Amino acid sequence: MRCSTGKRCFAEEALALEALIQNHIINDYPPNEGPVNVYECHQCGYWHFTSKGLKNAIFKDADTLKRIQQERRANYWERKLK
Ligand SMILES: [Zn+2]
Repeated sequence: MRCSTGKRCFAEEALALEALIQNHIINDYPPNEGPVNVYECHQCGYWHFTSKGLKNAIFKDADTLKRIQQERRANYWERKLK
């Protein structure tokens, strides 16, 4: 599925949010950079990342933040050991 925005498409909000979390695990963005939220696209009807606007509530969720930190550390060691 392609959208004229050229962005990656997600079928559901939950999938987009999960991918957003994974994106932040893989990319250690400086504060206020990188995608911050997801939105339903009016052109394709799918969900995309956006780096504009307010941060999604998941970034204020202590459990999610902990998970990002932990998985980021795990990824780091995985890469180092390969
Ligand atoms: Zn779209």
